Amino acid sequence: MSLYDVLEVEPSASADDIKKSYRRLARQYHPDANPGDADAEARFKEVAAAYEVLGDADKRAQYDQYGSTGDFNFSDPFGSGSGGLGDLFDAFFGGNPFGGGGGRGPSGPPRGQDIETSAVISFAETVTGCHKDISIRTAVACEDCGATGAEPGTLVEVCPDCGGAGEVRTVRQTVLGQIVAASPCRRCSGLGEIVPSPCGTCGGAGRVREDKNLMVDIPAGVDEGSTLRLSGQGPVGVRGGPPGDLFVRLQVRNDPRFHREGVDVVTRVPVAMTQAALGATITIPTLDGDHELVVAKGTQSGKTVRLRHSGMPRLNGRGRGDLIVVLDVLTPTDVDEDQSDALRKLAELRGESVDPEPEGFFSRLRSRLAD
Ligand SMILES: [Zn+2]
Ligand SMILES: [Zn+2]
Repeated sequence: MSLYDVLEVEPSASADDIKKSYRRLARQYHPDANPGDADAEARFKEVAAAYEVLGDADKRAQYDQYGSTGDFNFSDPFGSGSGGLGDLFDAFFGGNPFGGGGGRGPSGPPRGQDIETSAVISFAETVTGCHKDISIRTAVACEDCGATGAEPGTLVEVCPDCGGAGEVRTVRQTVLGQIVAASPCRRCSGLGEIVPSPCGTCGGAGRVREDKNLMVDIPAGVDEGSTLRLSGQGPVGVRGGPPGDLFVRLQVRNDPRFHREGVDVVTRVPVAMTQAALGATITIPTLDGDHELVVAKGTQSGKTVRLRHSGMPRLNGRGRGDLIVVLDVLTPTDVDEDQSDALRKLAELRGESVDPEPEGFFSRLRSRLAD
């Protein structure tokens, strides 16, 4: 079967005849005209592939001479070598008709858009989970017209411009032949219907603005930037369209005592020099309240203690991370004379050299008098 047979023309047909025949066959076998018909779809592909060659003077000449066009292999016109067919479909039909979802005509009113809001919670609330009241500006179905957009007592009508399809096709003449482009119908905004007498309350949209308060359930373990998706809690679509989703983005107020590293939480705890040297029991903050921690004798600054399963709850509800306690041994900066004497004594006992005591006012005075 030659490409001429596919296009149902004689090998001597003029370019014009080929184009006409192609258009007739493409319309006849177009998937939109034959939904679910695999034979028609195969035939349509053959026709499109044949026209790709015969509709082009150079390729046609090559085909006439060699029975093929080099890169064109008719047994597998959709193989990797045939590229460009997708483009062809795009140019002619505004989308690949085999891709599915190219969706002709409205499949019901469109869904409302997704909206985002934010909520601020405390660090403690990320540990326990919480409920938050949030208020959003959204859209709800207009009760006066039952979301139809039509003034009560009047009817919704099929859009006369697109016949209810929701889109209009325009035909352009180009070097490739006739190009049919589909675009959303402007008169009905793609809805396929119009309301000759719009509802006075919603202006024909079938929905009205509303400020709504919602109680949001925030699970334990959320973090700064976590976003909750509340399915179907967004604004409804126009004229009875289903609602979009509401996204709630969380901001977490810092707690100066804690910072998160994933599900682990780090806290820095000051330990006095004497406590670190001699050992002590100190009070530390944890996510579950104050706890006692035994500081071992001879603890170095920067030592970490890991308290298992005392960190942040995992979002999936399975256990908790760890609490990492970093011990900061503090050098005293406010020693008085007695403490200074004690430290000097300690240094002497340990054989550690320290700076001499700075000369005070009286010793300076004494030395001056002695001169
Ligand atoms: Zn329309
Ligand atoms: Zn209304």
